[in-house]
Amino acid sequence: MASPLDNKIEFLKGVGPQKAAVLNKELGIFTFSDLLHHFPYRHEDKTRFYKIAEVKDDLPMIQVKGELKNIQIVGEKRKQRLTAQLQDDSGVAELIWFRGINWVKKYLNPGYTYVVFAKPSLFKGKVSFAHPEIELFTPDREQLKYLYPMYTTSESMKRQYLDSKGVQKLIRQLIIEVKSYIRENLSADIIERYRLVPRAQAFQEVHFPVDAKALDRARFRLKFEELFFVQLKLLMQKGEQQKQYKGFIFEEIPSVTAFYNNHLPFDLTGAQKRVIKEIRRDFASGKHMNRLLQGDVGSGKTIVAFICMLMAIDNASQACLMAPTEILAEQHYRGLSEFTDKMGIKIELLTGSTKQAKRKAMLAALEAGELNLIVGTHALLEDRVKFKRLGLCIIDEQHRFGVAQRAKLWNKNRDIPPHVLVMTATPIPRTLAMTVYGDLDISVIDELPKGRKPIKTIHRYDSNRLKVFGFVKEQVKLGRQVYIVYPLIEESEKMDYKDLMDGYESVSRAFPEYQISIVHGKMKAEDKEYEMQRFLKKQTQIMVATTVIEVGVNVPNASVMIIENAERFGLAQLHQLRGRVGRGAEQSYCILMTGYKLSRESKIRIDTMVRTNNGFEIADVDLRLRGPGDLSGTQQSGVLDLSIADLSQDGRILTEARNTAMDVLEEDYELKLPKNQVMKQQVDMMKRRNINWSKIS
Ligand code: ADP
Ligand code: MG
Repeated sequence: MASPLDNKIEFLKGVGPQKAAVLNKELGIFTFSDLLHHFPYRHEDKTRFYKIAEVKDDLPMIQVKGELKNIQIVGEKRKQRLTAQLQDDSGVAELIWFRGINWVKKYLNPGYTYVVFAKPSLFKGKVSFAHPEIELFTPDREQLKYLYPMYTTSESMKRQYLDSKGVQKLIRQLIIEVKSYIRENLSADIIERYRLVPRAQAFQEVHFPVDAKALDRARFRLKFEELFFVQLKLLMQKGEQQKQYKGFIFEEIPSVTAFYNNHLPFDLTGAQKRVIKEIRRDFASGKHMNRLLQGDVGSGKTIVAFICMLMAIDNASQACLMAPTEILAEQHYRGLSEFTDKMGIKIELLTGSTKQAKRKAMLAALEAGELNLIVGTHALLEDRVKFKRLGLCIIDEQHRFGVAQRAKLWNKNRDIPPHVLVMTATPIPRTLAMTVYGDLDISVIDELPKGRKPIKTIHRYDSNRLKVFGFVKEQVKLGRQVYIVYPLIEESEKMDYKDLMDGYESVSRAFPEYQISIVHGKMKAEDKEYEMQRFLKKQTQIMVATTVIEVGVNVPNASVMIIENAERFGLAQLHQLRGRVGRGAEQSYCILMTGYKLSRESKIRIDTMVRTNNGFEIADVDLRLRGPGDLSGTQQSGVLDLSIADLSQDGRILTEARNTAMDVLEEDYELKLPKNQVMKQQVDMMKRRNINWSKIS
């Protein structure tokens, strides 16, 4: 059943092949429906004339009408400006131009009535408008009945007469033609519950609202609808997975109990206990677990992971832990070995640099089921890595891994897929997590172990380096260790590499009495490891490094993190780096070094770091600065092609949309009830058009 909404855009009255081509190319608009979804970026209120006496300080752009008087150029040379007065029956406003003075002056005629449109400002009771839109008032001037929509456009569109006004005309025509074909896609229940405006009306009013209230209503309706269907889709997909895949049941816990009684090195935090409970519930459910564990750097995810692995081992299964770098995998291996050695659990480490002979033996043991636990890097994904019975996969710092790689681990068990726990210290704002990982259950460790002192973060300019080095000296004298990190970003690798080496030399010169380590990505794994070990064993006091140390590395005695060219790092990365310190009992410091010249965004990033240690707050700022599409790990997901909702602002609507979707599915999982047919149709249509239904796993 073809709807006019699917018509090609060139068949809209007023479009034709040339305009169609430019709409295709510039805006990706191919059909009537696409154009309907080309929403205005703002509206101007030309529905009424304000009285000058009515003007308040916080008004948006408004219209006033009055007689133009006293046009004059004042000031000398550079400070010259054009001023005029506009008088209505309630008062006088001042109009000011700083640019294009002569040109503007030429077409202003005193004594005539003009219409002025601009944002007013109020100073000591005087109303003024800077650079207003101004036109002669004529009695036949159309008085708009709706807020005037403004649309994005481009130079090549303008060449085809598709400026904002041109686009507006097309959309007005479009709505006349298709309004009666815009079908409702939410059930009457939902519409009533949220008092949503009908869908056709929402489309009309999002473009041509009668007032600001109508616009808000329309936008709410369309955002709700958009987020609702994204959630519905994700939840249905998650349901499919759970129905399709049974999960291992892990109920026995002898070695977990033994670990708690004999080896646990500290009391777990409340948050750690809660998360372990959540996971245990999954393990007992008979369903397949697909869970995301979020916890800020240093919140203690590793021990949680280990306890979960014990649960798998206690139930005749194997477990694997995959980390994004060799350094991190090694560290996990070493950390876990301390426990497993005492507990008689067999663990091995598999990375790209594992020697052939060793690897062979290891893989054989793994397949025979003699190994309980394997820790490693991407090397674990290779086909020759086979398990006897893989019950649990844990992926650390999951944002570094792609979706496809996760899927590979899934398939390492034939009949029943292993439970999956992905851990991340890159806090993802809840709104985003719900959208991107809507098919994963989420657990959060939102509490740091007791006794941690919050890290002090300080911004210093490069010119203060001597002072900073002085501080380093003091700290090292107190027995602490220091990281100095340089950016190494691929595009400018050569230069960055030189910066790093120069930095290393100047640090060596400044601290002849100390031992200094250096670690960067170009070093061989064993050299890196050697240097890391020296630092860990306190044989070196200062570690000069690139971001290879960003992820997970744990040296509790290191208490100072200096980040050079901090303006070049993203917020998530700065936060990760800072997380390398503050792991011991001592007061830790993070010093962000920059030059004097900072872009607005860099400044916000640095200020945010100085202001807060809270990863979620930082993630929110990051989301606002960069937009969701840029956040790591989300690009492939495809769920972020939102046309009207904005994840950085519409968190509340998202939560409601998600809850509603859950309610609907709980009552009627297959959307069989008559009242849900409208939604079923929409889902089927999305399935047909789409694209990304199966991409998110
Ligand atoms: P992350 O969540 O960043 O991976 P880790 O698991 O590396 O954090 O833990 C950071 C440090 O905190 C480690 O040295 C770990 O031993 C310690 N730790 C973890 N949980 C606790 C706890 N409940 N009490 C005290 N120290 C803890
Ligand atoms: Mg970690």
